[in-house]
Amino acid sequence: MDSLWDFPDFDAHELVHFVTDRKTGLNAVIAVHSSHLGPGAGGTRFWHYAKTGDAVADVLRLSRGMSYKNAMAGLPLGGGKAVILADEARAKSPELLAAYGRAVEALGGRYVTAEDVGINVDDMVAIARQTKFVAGLPVAEGAVGGDPGPHTSYGVFLGVKAAVARKLGKDSLAGLHIAVQGAGSVAGGFARRAAAEGARLSIADIDEGRAQALAAETGGIVVPTDAIMTLEADVLSPNALGAILTEESIAALNVPIVAGGANNQLATPADGDRIHARSILYAPDYVINAGGIINVSTEYLKDGDRETVRKRIEAIPEKLDAIWAESEATGKNPAKVAGDMARRLIGRG
Ligand code: NAD
Repeated sequence: MDSLWDFPDFDAHELVHFVTDRKTGLNAVIAVHSSHLGPGAGGTRFWHYAKTGDAVADVLRLSRGMSYKNAMAGLPLGGGKAVILADEARAKSPELLAAYGRAVEALGGRYVTAEDVGINVDDMVAIARQTKFVAGLPVAEGAVGGDPGPHTSYGVFLGVKAAVARKLGKDSLAGLHIAVQGAGSVAGGFARRAAAEGARLSIADIDEGRAQALAAETGGIVVPTDAIMTLEADVLSPNALGAILTEESIAALNVPIVAGGANNQLATPADGDRIHARSILYAPDYVINAGGIINVSTEYLKDGDRETVRKRIEAIPEKLDAIWAESEATGKNPAKVAGDMARRLIGRG
């Protein structure tokens, strides 16, 4: 590979900013894919990468994903993302976070950050001492902000209901069997709402204690992690990892619907075609899981209250319906339809 332009994930990104601060050991990459709709917004990931090239590929892919997600959620934000390259011990010092905050500030608002894997609210508070281009900060009771997880869960719940209405012709989850992969923040919020509506849940998490606690709370059962993807159910709701939908796993699915909050569920674009070919209704992840970014955006832009956030999240089913309708009309798979819609919205159609 000769240069950044040759990276397979380079997609005419508007800005790729390499940050090195020798004093604190900070190495980071900040990428803005598109600012067509507004400043590039997306979280900061703190992760140990085996090779620095993996970090660059990650930030390129993730920032493009944020362009699509923000556009499809109807937010006045572009797509951005940052990765901080952690050492093997994942050592994180206040000085390193401060240096990172100064790097974000130096971009003058072209990139707006929030939490992602490995960065918690306390880290965000430390970063926010150096820059105002931050969201996802703790807020007073009743104000917009804080943990995006419950908002993501609400959108996932509404999206699953929309999929059930479309594919199974039912307006409630009552009596349906839902296989839930993951028992963390997003899965938990979704499972509680689904159980309250009468769904029967099977739950799997590599942290068995977590799965057991959620199952006890929702009247569900725990199933082994290697069984959840092949379970016979009405819905598979992936709420843990990415790249779980592969040629092999799609062939073994035993559900009419896959709809959940995990990011990047399709291992490759071809898997969008594979799942479609099996007549399984798929909810594109960055559309169904936009509840969290909707909350973050409303906090950062101060353009609404909690009621506004709720209404914006409640628009997610309409967007999914538009995607599925176009998919039906054109024969293209829903992930491809969503990708094309998103690219049109960011002026790259
Ligand atoms: P979390 O860390 O709270 O929960 C993830 C859970 O998945 C953990 O309990 C973990 O043990 C479990 N897990 C990991 N590997 C697994 C495996 N192989 N099988 C079963 N379970 C496994 O994270 P979260 O915030 O709930 O996020 C879940 C997913 O949703 C992630 O893909 C995330 O990127 C995505 N997402 C989250 C948000 C948000 O607002 N939190 C927003 C958009 C997308």
